[in-house]
Amino acid sequence: MTTFESAAARILAPLSELLHKPLYLTDARSPEASNAFAVRLALPRVAVVSADGKPFSDDERRLVNELFEVVRVAEESEARYAELEQRMLLLQRENLDLVVKNRALSEVSSRDTLTGLYNRWYVIEKIDSEINRAVRHGSPMSLLMLDIDHFKRINDTWGHTAGDQVLQSIGKLLRDSCRVYDVPGRYGGEEFCIVLPETRVGNTGAVAERIRQRLAQTAVPCGDSSVVVTASIGIAGMDAPEAIEVLSPAALIDRADRALYSAKTRGRNRVELWDRALLCEDDGAIEH
Ligand code: GH3
Ligand code: MG
Ligand code: MG
Repeated sequence: MTTFESAAARILAPLSELLHKPLYLTDARSPEASNAFAVRLALPRVAVVSADGKPFSDDERRLVNELFEVVRVAEESEARYAELEQRMLLLQRENLDLVVKNRALSEVSSRDTLTGLYNRWYVIEKIDSEINRAVRHGSPMSLLMLDIDHFKRINDTWGHTAGDQVLQSIGKLLRDSCRVYDVPGRYGGEEFCIVLPETRVGNTGAVAERIRQRLAQTAVPCGDSSVVVTASIGIAGMDAPEAIEVLSPAALIDRADRALYSAKTRGRNRVELWDRALLCEDDGAIEH
């Protein structure tokens, strides 16, 4: 039974009372729907029949029709509402699908395929947002740049595929050495970085030293064998609120790079913090 039919059935009793006629509903296609004791409604489905055999007056017909028209309009609104609700549910589901797909897509596009770490583009964005946060809240942040020492030798000795395998292990070691809110990335080639929100440069020195030691003590698979590699690490950051200089991501990366270059020139397998004095060192020499 449709909403209309059940509503029509409900108003039949009071209407019978009002018109002093015993009324019943019938199918509009039945023969009794076309006799003088019936009111065919403005809708195709039903007719109201008077059981006492007395014909309806014009006023009564109009009243019956108007009443049922109200019921029909109400039913239509209800159907429309149900349809809208259905459509809204569908849109919500589609929206959820899109959110999930977008998330998966941005996850894929922010990762380095070899190591699974974040890629250079994501890391640069992260550096930018952390610099902004540091400036806004006067909180510290640090950037750690790490370059594998003499990595070319690994490739030359064991082949490029084995070199890739070593890079994967280093990626895992870095990921395992980070806190959840640190952002470890592969900046390019055999150069890695970690963005450390809410961390002073001094404290980052200790983190870097731990990573350096861990790397130097870990034999990682390399082809049929295993090798120990070391890394040079440079650190720069935005420290105490009162000392905060507004830096661009490129400027901060340049500082960490200079510190890294300094670690290379001072013998490799070591950690260096950026220092203003490094600005005076040979400008074009950063190449690792
Ligand atoms: P340094 O201590 O000065 O950093 O010496 P290095 O040999 O590590 O530096 P260099 O920049 O001369 O060499 C880096 C090497 O890393 C050369 C390049 O072929 C290798 N490399 C860069 N990207 C990849 C990669 O994705 N896979 C492999 N297997 N090797 C890579
Ligand atoms: Mg290197
Ligand atoms: Mg390099």
